[in-house]
Amino acid sequence: DIDNTSDTIADKDRKFLWHNMLPYNGNQPPMVVTEGKGAWITDLQGNRYLDAMSGLWCVNVGYGRAELAEAAYEQMLMMPYYPLTQSHLPAVRLAEKLNEWLEGEYVIFFSNSGSEANEAAFKIARQYHQQTGGHNRYKFIARYRAYHGGSMGALSATGQAQRKYKYEPLGGGFLHVHPPDSYRRPAGQSQMDFNLQCAQAIEDMIVWEGEETIAGVILEPVITGGGVIVPEAAYLDRVQEICRKYGVLLIVDEVICGFGRSGKKFGHLNFNMKPDIVTMAKGLTSGYLPLSATAVRKEIYDAFKDPAAYSHFRHVNTFGGNPSACAVALKNLEIMERDHLVERSRLLGQRLREEMQELLAHPLVGDVRSFGFLLGIELVQDKQTKEPAPLATVNKIIGECKKKGLIIGKNGDTVAGFNNVLCFSPPLSSTDEDLQFIVTTFKQVMSNQVQASDNLN
Ligand code: PMP
Repeated sequence: DIDNTSDTIADKDRKFLWHNMLPYNGNQPPMVVTEGKGAWITDLQGNRYLDAMSGLWCVNVGYGRAELAEAAYEQMLMMPYYPLTQSHLPAVRLAEKLNEWLEGEYVIFFSNSGSEANEAAFKIARQYHQQTGGHNRYKFIARYRAYHGGSMGALSATGQAQRKYKYEPLGGGFLHVHPPDSYRRPAGQSQMDFNLQCAQAIEDMIVWEGEETIAGVILEPVITGGGVIVPEAAYLDRVQEICRKYGVLLIVDEVICGFGRSGKKFGHLNFNMKPDIVTMAKGLTSGYLPLSATAVRKEIYDAFKDPAAYSHFRHVNTFGGNPSACAVALKNLEIMERDHLVERSRLLGQRLREEMQELLAHPLVGDVRSFGFLLGIELVQDKQTKEPAPLATVNKIIGECKKKGLIIGKNGDTVAGFNNVLCFSPPLSSTDEDLQFIVTTFKQVMSNQVQASDNLN
Protein backbone atom coordinates (compact mmCIF):
# COMPACT_ATOMS: atom_id res chain seq x y z
CA ASP A 1 0.00 0.00 0.00
CA ILE A 2 1.20 3.46 -0.85
CA ASP A 3 0.82 5.98 1.94
CA ASN A 4 -0.54 9.09 0.31
CA THR A 5 -1.32 11.03 3.45
CA SER A 6 -0.32 14.64 3.12
CA ASP A 7 2.22 14.59 5.94
CA THR A 8 4.09 11.60 4.60
CA ILE A 9 4.23 12.99 1.09
CA ALA A 10 5.36 16.40 2.37
CA ASP A 11 8.15 14.74 4.37
CA LYS A 12 9.29 12.66 1.43
CA ASP A 13 9.08 15.63 -0.87
CA ARG A 14 11.31 17.63 1.45
CA LYS A 15 13.76 14.76 1.71
CA PHE A 16 14.01 13.50 -1.86
CA LEU A 17 12.77 16.05 -4.37
CA TRP A 18 14.81 18.94 -5.75
CA HIS A 19 12.40 21.54 -7.08
CA ASN A 20 12.79 24.10 -9.85
CA MET A 21 13.94 27.50 -8.57
CA LEU A 22 12.95 28.03 -4.92
CA PRO A 23 11.57 24.85 -3.40
CA TYR A 24 8.60 26.65 -1.88
CA ASN A 25 7.82 29.69 0.22
CA GLY A 26 9.38 29.39 3.65
CA ASN A 27 8.30 26.25 5.42
CA GLN A 28 5.09 25.90 3.48
CA PRO A 29 5.11 22.51 1.79
CA PRO A 30 4.55 22.68 -1.96
CA MET A 31 1.18 21.94 -3.45
CA VAL A 32 1.09 18.30 -4.49
CA VAL A 33 -1.19 18.10 -7.50
CA THR A 34 -3.07 14.91 -8.18
CA GLU A 35 -5.64 15.58 -10.89
CA GLY A 36 -6.63 18.04 -13.55
CA LYS A 37 -9.69 18.64 -15.67
CA GLY A 38 -10.10 21.55 -18.07
CA ALA A 39 -8.56 24.62 -16.44
CA TRP A 40 -8.82 23.15 -12.92
CA ILE A 41 -6.37 21.16 -10.83
CA THR A 42 -6.85 19.32 -7.53
CA ASP A 43 -4.27 18.89 -4.78
CA LEU A 44 -3.65 16.05 -2.35
CA GLN A 45 -6.00 17.58 0.24
CA GLY A 46 -8.77 17.82 -2.35
CA ASN A 47 -8.58 21.60 -2.80
CA ARG A 48 -9.43 22.80 -6.30
CA TYR A 49 -7.71 25.64 -8.12
CA LEU A 50 -8.17 27.32 -11.45
CA ASP A 51 -4.72 27.17 -12.99
CA ALA A 52 -4.42 30.53 -14.73
CA MET A 53 -0.80 29.75 -15.62
CA SER A 54 -1.49 26.49 -17.52
CA GLY A 55 1.28 24.88 -15.46
CA LEU A 56 4.20 26.78 -16.92
CA TRP A 57 2.44 28.14 -20.02
CA CYS A 58 1.96 24.58 -21.30
CA VAL A 59 -1.49 23.12 -21.00
CA ASN A 60 -3.19 25.07 -23.80
CA VAL A 61 -5.90 22.46 -24.45
CA GLY A 62 -6.55 21.99 -20.72
CA TYR A 63 -6.04 19.06 -18.38
CA GLY A 64 -7.57 15.61 -18.62
CA ARG A 65 -7.79 15.14 -22.39
CA ALA A 66 -8.28 11.39 -22.82
CA GLU A 67 -7.60 11.71 -26.56
CA LEU A 68 -4.01 12.73 -25.87
CA ALA A 69 -3.46 9.83 -23.48
CA GLU A 70 -4.91 7.47 -26.08
CA ALA A 71 -2.68 8.86 -28.83
CA ALA A 72 0.38 8.20 -26.64
CA TYR A 73 -0.84 4.73 -25.65
CA GLU A 74 -1.54 3.60 -29.20
CA GLN A 75 1.79 4.86 -30.48
CA MET A 76 3.68 3.22 -27.62
CA LEU A 77 2.13 -0.14 -28.45
CA MET A 78 2.83 0.28 -32.14
CA MET A 79 6.37 1.68 -32.03
CA PRO A 80 7.53 3.22 -28.75
CA TYR A 81 10.88 4.59 -29.74
CA TYR A 82 13.24 5.00 -32.60
CA PRO A 83 15.85 7.73 -33.05
CA LEU A 84 15.57 10.25 -35.84
CA THR A 85 18.86 9.11 -37.32
CA GLN A 86 16.24 7.13 -39.28
CA SER A 87 12.59 8.08 -39.55
CA HIS A 88 9.10 7.27 -38.33
CA LEU A 89 5.55 8.20 -39.28
CA PRO A 90 4.58 10.49 -36.39
CA ALA A 91 7.68 12.68 -36.92
CA VAL A 92 7.12 12.98 -40.67
CA ARG A 93 3.45 13.81 -40.22
CA LEU A 94 4.12 16.33 -37.47
CA ALA A 95 6.88 18.07 -39.45
CA GLU A 96 4.44 18.45 -42.35
CA LYS A 97 1.70 19.71 -40.03
CA LEU A 98 4.04 22.27 -38.45
CA ASN A 99 4.78 23.65 -41.91
CA GLU A 100 1.08 24.28 -42.32
CA TRP A 101 0.90 26.02 -38.94
CA LEU A 102 4.00 28.11 -39.67
CA GLU A 103 2.63 29.29 -43.03
CA GLY A 104 6.05 28.95 -44.65
CA GLU A 105 8.54 26.38 -45.88
CA TYR A 106 10.48 25.02 -42.92
CA VAL A 107 12.45 21.87 -42.15
CA ILE A 108 11.98 20.64 -38.60
CA PHE A 109 14.60 19.42 -36.11
CA PHE A 110 13.05 17.82 -33.00
CA SER A 111 14.34 17.93 -29.39
CA ASN A 112 12.69 17.63 -25.97
CA SER A 113 12.64 21.08 -24.38
CA GLY A 114 12.62 24.74 -25.21
CA SER A 115 16.23 25.08 -24.09
CA GLU A 116 17.34 22.32 -26.44
CA ALA A 117 15.38 23.82 -29.33
CA ASN A 118 17.29 27.07 -28.80
CA GLU A 119 20.63 25.27 -28.47
CA ALA A 120 19.99 23.58 -31.81
CA ALA A 121 19.08 26.97 -33.33
CA PHE A 122 22.39 28.49 -32.21
CA LYS A 123 24.42 25.61 -33.59
CA ILE A 124 22.51 25.60 -36.87
CA ALA A 125 23.02 29.35 -37.25
CA ARG A 126 26.77 29.15 -36.60
CA GLN A 127 27.25 26.20 -38.92
CA TYR A 128 25.12 27.83 -41.62
CA HIS A 129 27.37 30.88 -41.66
CA GLN A 130 30.49 28.68 -41.63
CA GLN A 131 29.24 26.87 -44.70
CA THR A 132 28.14 29.93 -46.59
CA GLY A 133 31.26 32.05 -46.16
CA GLY A 134 30.54 33.95 -42.94
CA HIS A 135 33.31 32.22 -40.99
CA ASN A 136 33.51 34.69 -38.12
CA ARG A 137 29.81 34.92 -37.48
CA TYR A 138 29.41 33.37 -34.05
CA LYS A 139 27.76 36.06 -31.89
CA PHE A 140 24.11 36.32 -30.98
CA ILE A 141 22.20 39.38 -29.88
CA ALA A 142 19.43 38.79 -27.34
CA ARG A 143 17.49 41.10 -25.02
CA TYR A 144 17.64 41.80 -21.30
CA ARG A 145 14.55 40.51 -19.48
CA ALA A 146 14.09 37.61 -21.94
CA TYR A 147 14.30 33.96 -20.91
CA HIS A 148 15.52 31.41 -23.44
CA GLY A 149 16.32 28.38 -21.28
CA GLY A 150 18.51 26.89 -18.58
CA SER A 151 21.19 24.96 -20.51
CA MET A 152 24.49 26.78 -20.95
CA GLY A 153 23.88 28.24 -24.44
CA ALA A 154 20.24 29.10 -23.81
CA LEU A 155 21.17 30.54 -20.42
CA SER A 156 23.83 32.66 -22.10
CA ALA A 157 21.13 34.08 -24.37
CA THR A 158 18.85 34.68 -21.38
CA GLY A 159 18.91 38.26 -20.15
CA GLN A 160 17.63 37.68 -16.63
CA ALA A 161 19.09 37.24 -13.18
CA GLN A 162 19.60 33.49 -13.59
CA ARG A 163 22.51 34.01 -15.96
CA LYS A 164 24.64 35.89 -13.47
CA TYR A 165 23.98 33.82 -10.39
CA LYS A 166 26.77 31.32 -9.94
CA TYR A 167 27.17 29.64 -13.26
CA GLU A 168 29.75 31.73 -15.06
CA PRO A 169 31.59 31.46 -17.35
CA LEU A 170 28.70 31.06 -19.73
CA GLY A 171 28.92 30.43 -23.45
CA GLY A 172 30.83 33.20 -25.21
CA GLY A 173 29.44 35.47 -27.86
CA PHE A 174 26.03 36.33 -26.38
CA LEU A 175 25.28 40.05 -26.29
CA HIS A 176 22.25 41.88 -24.90
CA VAL A 177 20.28 45.01 -25.68
CA HIS A 178 17.33 46.51 -23.83
CA PRO A 179 13.84 45.46 -24.92
CA PRO A 180 11.19 48.07 -25.74
CA ASP A 181 9.69 48.26 -22.25
CA SER A 182 7.39 51.11 -23.23
CA TYR A 183 5.90 51.54 -19.76
CA ARG A 184 9.33 52.54 -18.48
CA ARG A 185 10.42 54.67 -21.41
CA PRO A 186 12.03 58.04 -20.66
CA ALA A 187 9.54 60.77 -19.79
CA GLY A 188 8.60 62.89 -22.76
CA GLN A 189 9.57 60.34 -25.41
CA SER A 190 6.80 58.89 -27.59
CA GLN A 191 6.21 55.15 -27.42
CA MET A 192 7.01 54.81 -31.13
CA ASP A 193 10.27 56.76 -30.90
CA PHE A 194 11.31 54.69 -27.91
CA ASN A 195 10.57 51.42 -29.73
CA LEU A 196 12.52 52.52 -32.80
CA GLN A 197 15.40 53.59 -30.59
CA CYS A 198 15.45 50.10 -29.02
CA ALA A 199 15.56 48.56 -32.51
CA GLN A 200 18.34 50.96 -33.46
CA ALA A 201 20.39 49.63 -30.52
CA ILE A 202 20.52 46.30 -32.36
CA GLU A 203 21.87 47.90 -35.53
CA ASP A 204 24.39 49.91 -33.51
CA MET A 205 25.60 46.74 -31.82
CA ILE A 206 25.96 44.90 -35.13
CA VAL A 207 27.96 47.78 -36.59
CA TRP A 208 30.10 48.19 -33.47
CA GLU A 209 30.87 44.47 -33.14
CA GLY A 210 31.36 44.10 -36.89
CA GLU A 211 28.59 42.59 -38.98
CA GLU A 212 30.94 39.80 -40.06
CA THR A 213 30.89 38.51 -36.43
CA ILE A 214 27.12 38.38 -35.85
CA ALA A 215 25.33 35.07 -36.47
CA GLY A 216 21.84 35.88 -35.28
CA VAL A 217 19.35 37.86 -33.28
CA ILE A 218 17.09 35.83 -30.96
CA LEU A 219 13.85 37.22 -29.63
CA GLU A 220 10.36 36.32 -28.54
CA PRO A 221 7.74 38.32 -30.47
CA VAL A 222 6.59 39.51 -27.04
CA ILE A 223 8.77 38.99 -23.98
CA THR A 224 6.65 36.68 -21.86
CA GLY A 225 8.32 35.44 -18.67
CA GLY A 226 10.32 38.66 -18.44
CA GLY A 227 7.20 40.71 -17.75
CA VAL A 228 4.88 40.65 -20.78
CA ILE A 229 6.72 43.32 -22.75
CA VAL A 230 4.71 44.04 -25.90
CA PRO A 231 6.53 45.91 -28.67
CA GLU A 232 5.15 48.20 -31.34
CA ALA A 233 4.80 46.29 -34.63
CA ALA A 234 7.25 48.82 -36.09
CA TYR A 235 9.94 47.60 -33.66
CA LEU A 236 9.76 44.05 -35.01
CA ASP A 237 9.59 45.32 -38.62
CA ARG A 238 12.72 47.32 -38.04
CA VAL A 239 14.60 44.48 -36.30
CA GLN A 240 13.77 42.18 -39.21
CA GLU A 241 14.94 44.81 -41.69
CA ILE A 242 18.22 45.19 -39.79
CA CYS A 243 18.79 41.42 -39.73
CA ARG A 244 18.28 41.24 -43.49
CA LYS A 245 20.49 44.24 -44.16
CA TYR A 246 23.47 42.62 -42.38
CA GLY A 247 22.88 38.95 -43.25
CA VAL A 248 22.07 38.15 -39.61
CA LEU A 249 19.65 35.27 -38.99
CA LEU A 250 16.43 36.10 -37.18
CA ILE A 251 15.63 33.42 -34.58
CA VAL A 252 12.16 33.70 -33.07
CA ASP A 253 11.56 31.93 -29.75
CA GLU A 254 7.90 30.82 -29.81
CA VAL A 255 8.19 28.55 -26.78
CA ILE A 256 5.43 30.49 -25.00
CA CYS A 257 3.96 32.67 -27.78
CA GLY A 258 3.39 29.70 -30.12
CA PHE A 259 0.39 27.43 -30.52
CA GLY A 260 -2.41 29.91 -30.10
CA ARG A 261 -1.36 31.79 -26.99
CA SER A 262 -1.04 35.01 -29.00
CA GLY A 263 -4.44 34.71 -30.68
CA LYS A 264 -2.76 33.44 -33.87
CA LYS A 265 -1.09 30.12 -34.54
CA PHE A 266 2.30 31.66 -33.76
CA GLY A 267 3.18 34.95 -32.13
CA HIS A 268 5.18 36.20 -35.10
CA LEU A 269 2.14 35.75 -37.38
CA ASN A 270 0.61 38.76 -35.61
CA PHE A 271 3.34 40.79 -37.26
CA ASN A 272 4.90 41.04 -40.67
CA MET A 273 7.65 38.58 -39.77
CA LYS A 274 9.34 35.79 -41.70
CA PRO A 275 11.83 34.31 -39.24
CA ASP A 276 14.81 32.27 -40.42
CA ILE A 277 14.47 29.93 -37.47
CA VAL A 278 11.51 29.35 -35.15
CA THR A 279 11.86 27.47 -31.85
CA MET A 280 8.88 25.93 -30.04
CA ALA A 281 8.07 23.58 -27.14
CA LYS A 282 5.48 23.76 -24.30
CA GLY A 283 2.20 24.20 -26.23
CA LEU A 284 3.36 21.84 -29.00
CA THR A 285 2.07 18.92 -26.90
CA SER A 286 0.20 21.07 -24.36
CA GLY A 287 2.77 19.66 -21.93
CA TYR A 288 1.38 16.10 -22.05
CA LEU A 289 4.77 14.74 -23.18
CA PRO A 290 8.11 16.51 -23.66
CA LEU A 291 8.77 17.66 -27.22
CA SER A 292 10.30 20.70 -28.86
CA ALA A 293 11.18 21.75 -32.38
CA THR A 294 13.56 24.01 -34.24
CA ALA A 295 11.99 25.01 -37.55
CA VAL A 296 14.56 26.16 -40.09
CA ARG A 297 13.76 28.01 -43.30
CA LYS A 298 14.27 25.69 -46.25
CA GLU A 299 16.94 27.88 -47.90
CA ILE A 300 19.04 27.63 -44.74
CA TYR A 301 18.59 23.89 -44.49
CA ASP A 302 19.84 23.61 -48.08
CA ALA A 303 23.30 24.71 -46.92
CA PHE A 304 23.48 21.45 -44.91
CA LYS A 305 22.75 19.14 -47.82
CA ASP A 306 25.96 19.10 -49.84
CA PRO A 307 27.23 15.50 -49.46
CA ALA A 308 30.72 16.41 -50.70
CA ALA A 309 31.39 19.02 -48.07
CA TYR A 310 30.72 16.96 -44.93
CA SER A 311 28.13 19.58 -44.28
CA HIS A 312 25.49 17.76 -42.26
CA PHE A 313 24.35 19.01 -38.87
CA ARG A 314 26.54 17.16 -36.38
CA HIS A 315 24.09 17.13 -33.53
CA VAL A 316 22.36 14.09 -32.07
CA ASN A 317 19.36 14.06 -29.79
CA THR A 318 18.48 10.59 -28.50
CA PHE A 319 14.91 11.29 -27.45
CA GLY A 320 14.13 14.21 -29.78
CA GLY A 321 11.02 13.55 -31.85
CA ASN A 322 9.98 10.61 -29.69
CA PRO A 323 7.16 8.89 -31.63
CA SER A 324 4.65 9.05 -28.79
CA ALA A 325 5.41 12.71 -28.14
CA CYS A 326 4.92 13.42 -31.88
CA ALA A 327 1.64 11.47 -31.85
CA VAL A 328 0.46 13.54 -28.89
CA ALA A 329 1.51 16.76 -30.64
CA LEU A 330 -0.44 15.78 -33.77
CA LYS A 331 -3.54 15.04 -31.70
CA ASN A 332 -3.03 18.24 -29.74
CA LEU A 333 -2.99 20.29 -32.95
CA GLU A 334 -6.04 18.40 -34.19
CA ILE A 335 -7.89 19.33 -30.99
CA MET A 336 -6.79 22.96 -31.31
CA GLU A 337 -8.18 23.07 -34.86
CA ARG A 338 -11.37 21.11 -34.13
CA ASP A 339 -12.22 23.17 -31.03
CA HIS A 340 -11.11 26.47 -32.65
CA LEU A 341 -8.80 27.19 -29.73
CA VAL A 342 -6.73 29.81 -31.55
CA GLU A 343 -9.86 31.86 -32.15
CA ARG A 344 -10.99 31.13 -28.59
CA SER A 345 -7.67 32.46 -27.31
CA ARG A 346 -8.19 35.72 -29.20
CA LEU A 347 -11.72 36.12 -27.86
CA LEU A 348 -10.86 35.26 -24.24
CA GLY A 349 -7.78 37.46 -24.42
CA GLN A 350 -9.87 40.45 -25.50
CA ARG A 351 -12.39 39.90 -22.73
CA LEU A 352 -9.73 39.42 -20.08
CA ARG A 353 -8.02 42.61 -21.18
CA GLU A 354 -11.22 44.64 -21.13
CA GLU A 355 -12.01 43.40 -17.63
CA MET A 356 -8.52 43.90 -16.23
CA GLN A 357 -8.02 47.31 -17.77
CA GLU A 358 -10.54 48.67 -15.25
CA LEU A 359 -7.92 47.94 -12.62
CA LEU A 360 -5.76 50.78 -13.94
CA ALA A 361 -7.76 52.86 -11.47
CA HIS A 362 -6.35 50.74 -8.61
CA PRO A 363 -3.54 52.45 -6.66
CA LEU A 364 -1.18 49.49 -7.12
CA VAL A 365 -1.72 48.88 -10.83
CA GLY A 366 0.75 50.75 -13.02
CA ASP A 367 0.17 49.01 -16.32
CA VAL A 368 -1.94 46.29 -17.93
CA ARG A 369 -0.46 44.62 -21.02
CA SER A 370 -1.57 41.71 -23.10
CA PHE A 371 -0.84 39.61 -26.16
CA GLY A 372 -3.62 37.23 -27.08
CA PHE A 373 -4.60 35.25 -24.00
CA LEU A 374 -1.50 36.28 -22.06
CA LEU A 375 -1.87 39.20 -19.71
CA GLY A 376 0.52 41.03 -17.42
CA ILE A 377 -0.34 43.48 -14.65
CA GLU A 378 2.58 45.57 -13.48
CA LEU A 379 2.30 46.51 -9.79
CA VAL A 380 3.86 49.72 -8.55
CA GLN A 381 3.90 51.48 -5.21
CA ASP A 382 3.87 54.92 -6.79
CA LYS A 383 2.29 55.60 -10.15
CA GLN A 384 4.33 58.76 -10.66
CA THR A 385 7.79 57.33 -10.02
CA LYS A 386 6.76 53.82 -11.17
CA GLU A 387 8.68 52.40 -8.23
CA PRO A 388 7.98 48.65 -8.40
CA ALA A 389 5.70 47.20 -5.73
CA PRO A 390 7.70 45.32 -3.09
CA LEU A 391 8.00 41.59 -3.52
CA ALA A 392 6.05 41.08 -0.28
CA THR A 393 3.02 42.85 -1.79
CA VAL A 394 3.28 40.88 -5.04
CA ASN A 395 3.56 37.60 -3.13
CA LYS A 396 0.70 38.56 -0.83
CA ILE A 397 -1.64 39.11 -3.79
CA ILE A 398 -0.60 35.81 -5.35
CA GLY A 399 -1.12 34.07 -1.99
CA GLU A 400 -4.58 35.63 -1.49
CA CYS A 401 -5.59 34.51 -4.98
CA LYS A 402 -4.46 30.99 -4.18
CA LYS A 403 -6.48 30.96 -0.96
CA LYS A 404 -9.52 31.74 -3.11
CA GLY A 405 -8.68 28.98 -5.58
CA LEU A 406 -6.89 30.95 -8.29
CA ILE A 407 -3.30 30.33 -9.36
CA ILE A 408 -1.57 33.21 -11.12
CA GLY A 409 2.09 33.78 -11.94
CA LYS A 410 4.79 36.31 -11.21
CA ASN A 411 7.06 37.62 -13.96
CA GLY A 412 9.93 39.94 -14.36
CA ASP A 413 13.47 39.94 -13.18
CA THR A 414 14.65 40.02 -9.59
CA VAL A 415 18.02 41.57 -10.29
CA ALA A 416 16.61 44.34 -12.44
CA GLY A 417 14.14 44.91 -9.58
CA PHE A 418 11.10 44.29 -11.75
CA ASN A 419 9.78 41.09 -10.28
CA ASN A 420 6.47 42.87 -10.05
CA VAL A 421 4.39 41.73 -12.99
CA LEU A 422 1.46 39.43 -12.30
CA CYS A 423 0.86 37.00 -15.11
CA PHE A 424 -2.29 35.35 -16.44
CA SER A 425 -1.99 32.64 -19.06
CA PRO A 426 -4.91 30.23 -18.61
CA PRO A 427 -5.69 27.24 -20.84
CA LEU A 428 -7.04 28.37 -24.23
CA SER A 429 -9.92 25.96 -23.64
CA SER A 430 -11.12 27.90 -20.58
CA THR A 431 -14.89 28.27 -20.37
CA ASP A 432 -16.76 31.57 -20.00
CA GLU A 433 -17.34 30.64 -16.35
CA ASP A 434 -13.60 30.03 -15.87
CA LEU A 435 -12.85 33.50 -17.22
CA GLN A 436 -15.48 35.02 -14.96
CA PHE A 437 -13.97 33.20 -11.97
CA ILE A 438 -10.50 34.57 -12.77
CA VAL A 439 -11.74 38.13 -13.14
CA THR A 440 -14.06 38.13 -10.11
CA THR A 441 -11.56 36.45 -7.80
CA PHE A 442 -8.69 38.70 -8.81
CA LYS A 443 -10.71 41.89 -8.53
CA GLN A 444 -11.92 40.85 -5.10
CA VAL A 445 -8.34 40.24 -3.93
CA MET A 446 -7.23 43.58 -5.33
CA SER A 447 -10.09 45.42 -3.69
CA ASN A 448 -9.28 43.80 -0.32
CA GLN A 449 -5.74 44.97 -0.88
CA VAL A 450 -6.88 48.60 -1.08
CA GLN A 451 -8.93 48.21 2.07
CA ALA A 452 -5.97 46.69 3.88
CA SER A 453 -3.72 49.61 2.99
CA ASP A 454 -6.50 52.09 3.90
CA ASN A 455 -6.61 50.49 7.33
CA LEU A 456 -2.90 51.07 7.74
CA ASN A 457 -3.14 54.78 6.98
N1 PMP B 1 12.12 29.98 -24.17
C1 PMP B 1 11.11 30.56 -23.51
C2 PMP B 1 10.50 31.81 -24.03
C3 PMP B 1 10.65 29.98 -22.31
O1 PMP B 1 9.67 30.56 -21.62
C4 PMP B 1 11.24 28.78 -21.84
C5 PMP B 1 10.76 28.10 -20.57
N2 PMP B 1 10.02 28.81 -19.69
C6 PMP B 1 12.29 28.23 -22.58
C7 PMP B 1 12.69 28.85 -23.74
C8 PMP B 1 12.97 26.99 -22.12
O2 PMP B 1 12.12 25.91 -22.20
P1 PMP B 1 12.39 24.58 -21.33
O3 PMP B 1 12.13 24.91 -19.91
O4 PMP B 1 11.41 23.61 -21.93
O5 PMP B 1 13.80 24.18 -21.59
